[in-house]
Amino acid sequence: QPLVHMQNIVKEYFIGDQVIRALNDVTLDIWPGEFVAIMGPSGSGKSTMMNVMGCLDVPTSGTYVLDGVAVSTLSEDELASVRNQKIGFIFQSFNLLPRTTALENVELPMLYMGVPPRQRRERAMEALEQVGLKERAYNRPNELSGGQQQRVAIARALVNQPNIILGDEPTGALDSKTTEDILALLHQLHGQGNTIILVTHDAEVGRHAERVIRFRDGRVESDTAAAYEGER
Ligand code: ADP
Ligand code: ADP
Repeated sequence: QPLVHMQNIVKEYFIGDQVIRALNDVTLDIWPGEFVAIMGPSGSGKSTMMNVMGCLDVPTSGTYVLDGVAVSTLSEDELASVRNQKIGFIFQSFNLLPRTTALENVELPMLYMGVPPRQRRERAMEALEQVGLKERAYNRPNELSGGQQQRVAIARALVNQPNIILGDEPTGALDSKTTEDILALLHQLHGQGNTIILVTHDAEVGRHAERVIRFRDGRVESDTAAAYEGER
Protein backbone atom coordinates (compact mmCIF):
# COMPACT_ATOMS: atom_id res chain seq x y z
CA GLN A 1 0.00 0.00 0.00
CA PRO A 2 1.28 3.50 -0.74
CA LEU A 3 2.49 5.56 2.20
CA VAL A 4 0.97 8.70 0.72
CA HIS A 5 -2.18 8.32 -1.34
CA MET A 6 -3.66 11.56 -2.62
CA GLN A 7 -6.63 11.70 -4.92
CA ASN A 8 -8.10 14.85 -6.45
CA ILE A 9 -6.67 17.06 -3.72
CA VAL A 10 -7.84 20.68 -3.87
CA LYS A 11 -6.67 23.34 -1.43
CA GLU A 12 -8.24 26.77 -1.55
CA TYR A 13 -7.40 29.84 0.49
CA PHE A 14 -10.02 32.50 1.00
CA ILE A 15 -8.93 36.11 1.29
CA GLY A 16 -12.02 38.26 1.66
CA ASP A 17 -14.18 37.31 -1.33
CA GLN A 18 -11.15 36.13 -3.31
CA VAL A 19 -10.43 32.42 -3.73
CA ILE A 20 -6.88 31.22 -4.33
CA ARG A 21 -6.65 27.64 -5.53
CA ALA A 22 -3.18 26.64 -4.31
CA LEU A 23 -3.62 22.94 -5.16
CA ASN A 24 -5.77 22.08 -8.11
CA ASP A 25 -6.76 18.43 -8.45
CA VAL A 26 -3.56 16.72 -7.34
CA THR A 27 -3.44 12.93 -7.53
CA LEU A 28 -0.28 11.06 -6.52
CA ASP A 29 1.05 8.07 -4.62
CA ILE A 30 4.35 7.80 -2.77
CA TRP A 31 5.60 4.36 -1.76
CA PRO A 32 7.61 3.31 1.29
CA GLY A 33 11.33 3.82 0.79
CA GLU A 34 11.08 6.46 -1.92
CA PHE A 35 13.30 9.57 -2.02
CA VAL A 36 11.16 12.28 -3.59
CA ALA A 37 11.83 15.94 -4.38
CA ILE A 38 8.83 18.22 -4.79
CA MET A 39 9.89 21.13 -6.97
CA GLY A 40 8.42 24.03 -8.92
CA PRO A 41 8.51 27.81 -9.19
CA SER A 42 7.50 30.14 -6.39
CA GLY A 43 3.73 30.13 -5.92
CA SER A 44 3.27 26.73 -7.60
CA GLY A 45 1.87 25.13 -4.45
CA LYS A 46 4.91 23.42 -2.90
CA SER A 47 4.46 24.83 0.61
CA THR A 48 0.76 24.05 0.49
CA MET A 49 1.59 20.49 -0.60
CA MET A 50 4.06 20.17 2.26
CA ASN A 51 1.45 21.43 4.73
CA VAL A 52 -1.20 19.00 3.50
CA MET A 53 1.18 16.05 3.21
CA GLY A 54 2.59 16.78 6.68
CA CYS A 55 -0.89 16.99 8.23
CA LEU A 56 -0.27 20.61 9.19
CA ASP A 57 -3.33 21.60 7.20
CA VAL A 58 -6.33 19.82 5.68
CA PRO A 59 -7.33 19.91 2.01
CA THR A 60 -10.50 21.71 0.90
CA SER A 61 -11.56 18.56 -0.94
CA GLY A 62 -10.13 15.27 -2.11
CA THR A 63 -8.81 12.20 -0.38
CA TYR A 64 -5.57 11.89 1.55
CA VAL A 65 -4.71 8.51 3.02
CA LEU A 66 -1.43 8.47 4.98
CA ASP A 67 -0.13 5.00 5.86
CA GLY A 68 -3.67 3.62 5.69
CA VAL A 69 -5.25 6.42 7.72
CA ALA A 70 -7.79 8.67 5.98
CA VAL A 71 -6.49 11.98 7.23
CA SER A 72 -8.62 14.31 5.11
CA THR A 73 -11.47 13.87 7.56
CA LEU A 74 -9.65 14.03 10.92
CA SER A 75 -10.13 16.67 13.62
CA GLU A 76 -7.27 19.00 14.62
CA ASP A 77 -6.33 16.81 17.60
CA GLU A 78 -6.40 13.59 15.63
CA LEU A 79 -4.34 15.26 12.92
CA ALA A 80 -1.73 16.34 15.48
CA SER A 81 -1.48 12.81 16.78
CA VAL A 82 -1.04 11.29 13.31
CA ARG A 83 1.55 13.96 12.53
CA ASN A 84 3.58 13.18 15.65
CA GLN A 85 3.55 9.46 14.99
CA LYS A 86 4.12 9.37 11.28
CA ILE A 87 6.11 12.41 10.23
CA GLY A 88 9.53 13.79 11.11
CA PHE A 89 9.98 17.37 9.93
CA ILE A 90 13.10 19.20 8.92
CA PHE A 91 13.08 22.90 8.04
CA GLN A 92 15.20 25.49 6.29
CA SER A 93 15.85 27.35 9.55
CA PHE A 94 16.36 24.14 11.62
CA ASN A 95 13.77 25.24 14.24
CA LEU A 96 15.82 24.08 17.22
CA LEU A 97 15.10 25.39 20.71
CA PRO A 98 17.98 27.84 21.32
CA ARG A 99 18.46 27.46 25.06
CA THR A 100 18.55 23.67 25.21
CA THR A 101 21.29 21.23 24.23
CA ALA A 102 21.37 19.18 21.05
CA LEU A 103 20.43 16.13 23.12
CA GLU A 104 17.40 17.85 24.69
CA ASN A 105 16.27 19.08 21.28
CA VAL A 106 16.33 15.52 20.00
CA GLU A 107 14.47 14.28 23.09
CA LEU A 108 11.60 16.69 22.54
CA PRO A 109 9.38 14.60 20.21
CA MET A 110 9.60 11.70 22.67
CA LEU A 111 8.47 13.97 25.50
CA TYR A 112 5.20 14.46 23.62
CA MET A 113 4.94 10.70 23.16
CA GLY A 114 5.38 10.04 26.87
CA VAL A 115 8.63 8.07 26.61
CA PRO A 116 10.29 7.76 30.06
CA PRO A 117 13.39 9.96 30.68
CA ARG A 118 16.09 7.31 30.62
CA GLN A 119 14.84 5.81 27.40
CA ARG A 120 14.50 9.29 25.91
CA ARG A 121 18.12 10.03 26.64
CA GLU A 122 19.32 6.71 25.21
CA ARG A 123 17.32 6.99 22.03
CA ALA A 124 18.28 10.66 21.53
CA MET A 125 21.95 9.74 21.92
CA GLU A 126 21.54 6.93 19.36
CA ALA A 127 19.90 9.33 16.91
CA LEU A 128 22.74 11.83 17.36
CA GLU A 129 25.22 9.04 16.74
CA GLN A 130 23.33 8.12 13.58
CA VAL A 131 23.83 11.64 12.21
CA GLY A 132 27.47 11.76 13.36
CA LEU A 133 27.02 14.31 16.14
CA LYS A 134 27.30 12.32 19.34
CA GLU A 135 30.27 14.40 20.51
CA ARG A 136 28.14 17.56 20.27
CA ALA A 137 25.27 16.23 22.41
CA TYR A 138 25.77 18.80 25.16
CA ASN A 139 26.28 21.82 22.91
CA ARG A 140 23.56 24.40 22.36
CA PRO A 141 22.49 25.34 18.82
CA ASN A 142 24.47 28.62 18.80
CA GLU A 143 27.63 26.59 19.44
CA LEU A 144 27.04 24.53 16.30
CA SER A 145 27.51 25.27 12.60
CA GLY A 146 24.50 25.39 10.27
CA GLY A 147 25.23 21.90 8.99
CA GLN A 148 25.56 20.57 12.54
CA GLN A 149 22.29 22.22 13.53
CA GLN A 150 20.57 20.59 10.58
CA ARG A 151 22.02 17.23 11.69
CA VAL A 152 20.48 17.77 15.13
CA ALA A 153 17.17 18.57 13.44
CA ILE A 154 17.46 15.39 11.36
CA ALA A 155 18.17 13.38 14.52
CA ARG A 156 15.07 14.95 16.08
CA ALA A 157 13.06 14.04 12.97
CA LEU A 158 14.28 10.43 13.12
CA VAL A 159 13.97 9.71 16.77
CA ASN A 160 10.35 8.52 16.85
CA GLN A 161 10.96 6.34 13.80
CA PRO A 162 8.48 8.17 11.58
CA ASN A 163 7.11 6.77 8.33
CA ILE A 164 8.21 9.87 6.45
CA ILE A 165 10.98 12.41 6.83
CA LEU A 166 9.50 15.55 5.34
CA GLY A 167 11.81 18.46 4.60
CA ASP A 168 10.93 22.04 3.71
CA GLU A 169 13.94 23.55 1.88
CA PRO A 170 16.27 21.67 4.26
CA THR A 171 19.39 22.97 2.51
CA GLY A 172 18.08 26.50 1.91
CA ALA A 173 20.25 28.06 4.61
CA LEU A 174 23.40 26.05 3.90
CA ASP A 175 26.40 26.65 1.65
CA SER A 176 27.03 24.22 -1.18
CA LYS A 177 29.61 22.09 0.65
CA THR A 178 27.33 21.70 3.67
CA THR A 179 24.40 21.03 1.35
CA GLU A 180 26.37 18.11 -0.10
CA ASP A 181 27.07 16.77 3.40
CA ILE A 182 23.41 16.95 4.40
CA LEU A 183 22.30 15.35 1.13
CA ALA A 184 24.83 12.56 1.71
CA LEU A 185 23.34 12.00 5.17
CA LEU A 186 19.81 11.92 3.75
CA HIS A 187 21.04 9.41 1.16
CA GLN A 188 22.43 7.24 3.88
CA LEU A 189 19.12 7.38 5.77
CA HIS A 190 17.29 6.55 2.56
CA GLY A 191 19.62 3.58 2.11
CA GLN A 192 18.55 2.39 5.58
CA GLY A 193 14.94 2.27 4.37
CA ASN A 194 13.63 5.70 5.33
CA THR A 195 11.12 7.45 3.09
CA ILE A 196 12.30 10.98 2.36
CA ILE A 197 10.26 13.76 0.79
CA LEU A 198 11.88 17.16 0.29
CA VAL A 199 10.13 20.31 -0.86
CA THR A 200 12.74 22.48 -2.54
CA HIS A 201 13.73 25.11 -5.08
CA ASP A 202 17.24 23.72 -5.11
CA ALA A 203 18.12 21.89 -8.33
CA GLU A 204 21.00 20.21 -6.48
CA VAL A 205 18.55 18.58 -4.10
CA GLY A 206 16.42 17.53 -7.06
CA ARG A 207 19.44 15.81 -8.60
CA HIS A 208 19.86 13.67 -5.49
CA ALA A 209 16.27 12.43 -5.40
CA GLU A 210 15.06 9.24 -7.07
CA ARG A 211 11.89 10.92 -8.18
CA VAL A 212 11.05 14.54 -8.93
CA ILE A 213 7.46 15.75 -8.80
CA ARG A 214 7.24 19.19 -10.37
CA PHE A 215 4.36 21.52 -9.59
CA ARG A 216 3.04 24.41 -11.65
CA ASP A 217 -0.03 26.50 -10.85
CA GLY A 218 -1.14 24.02 -8.19
CA ARG A 219 -0.99 21.01 -10.48
CA VAL A 220 1.49 18.20 -11.01
CA GLU A 221 3.33 19.29 -14.13
CA SER A 222 5.66 16.30 -14.30
CA ASP A 223 6.55 13.26 -12.23
CA THR A 224 9.76 11.58 -13.24
CA ALA A 225 12.17 8.97 -11.99
CA ALA A 226 15.55 10.69 -11.88
CA ALA A 227 18.84 8.85 -11.94
CA TYR A 228 21.21 10.17 -9.34
CA GLU A 229 24.34 11.37 -11.08
CA GLY A 230 26.92 11.71 -8.32
CA GLU A 231 28.55 9.08 -6.16
CA ARG A 232 26.49 7.44 -3.49
P1 ADP B 1 5.19 27.70 -3.20
O1 ADP B 1 5.55 27.05 -1.93
O2 ADP B 1 5.42 26.84 -4.41
O3 ADP B 1 5.80 29.05 -3.34
P2 ADP B 1 2.60 28.11 -1.97
O4 ADP B 1 1.98 26.81 -1.65
O5 ADP B 1 3.24 28.89 -0.89
O6 ADP B 1 3.61 27.90 -3.21
O7 ADP B 1 1.50 29.05 -2.65
C1 ADP B 1 0.61 28.63 -3.66
C2 ADP B 1 -0.41 29.73 -3.85
O8 ADP B 1 -1.24 29.81 -2.71
C3 ADP B 1 0.20 31.11 -4.02
O9 ADP B 1 -0.65 31.84 -4.89
C4 ADP B 1 0.16 31.68 -2.61
O10 ADP B 1 0.13 33.09 -2.61
C5 ADP B 1 -1.13 31.07 -2.09
N1 ADP B 1 -1.09 30.86 -0.63
C6 ADP B 1 -0.26 30.04 0.05
N2 ADP B 1 -0.52 30.04 1.35
C7 ADP B 1 -1.54 30.90 1.52
C8 ADP B 1 -2.30 31.33 2.66
N3 ADP B 1 -2.04 30.88 3.89
N4 ADP B 1 -3.30 32.23 2.45
C9 ADP B 1 -3.57 32.65 1.22
N5 ADP B 1 -2.92 32.28 0.11
C10 ADP B 1 -1.93 31.41 0.25
P1 ADP C 1 8.16 29.37 0.13
O1 ADP C 1 9.29 30.35 0.26
O2 ADP C 1 8.40 28.05 0.77
O3 ADP C 1 7.59 29.28 -1.24
P2 ADP C 1 6.15 31.24 0.78
O4 ADP C 1 7.02 32.46 0.95
O5 ADP C 1 5.35 31.07 -0.46
O6 ADP C 1 7.01 29.95 1.05
O7 ADP C 1 5.16 31.15 2.01
C1 ADP C 1 5.60 31.20 3.33
C2 ADP C 1 4.39 30.98 4.22
O8 ADP C 1 3.40 31.99 3.98
C3 ADP C 1 3.71 29.64 3.94
O9 ADP C 1 3.34 29.05 5.16
C4 ADP C 1 2.50 30.00 3.12
O10 ADP C 1 1.42 29.13 3.40
C5 ADP C 1 2.18 31.42 3.56
N1 ADP C 1 1.68 32.23 2.43
C6 ADP C 1 2.12 32.22 1.17
N2 ADP C 1 1.42 33.06 0.40
C7 ADP C 1 0.49 33.63 1.22
C8 ADP C 1 -0.53 34.60 1.02
N3 ADP C 1 -0.80 35.12 -0.16
N4 ADP C 1 -1.26 34.94 2.09
C9 ADP C 1 -1.03 34.41 3.29
N5 ADP C 1 -0.08 33.49 3.53
C10 ADP C 1 0.68 33.10 2.50
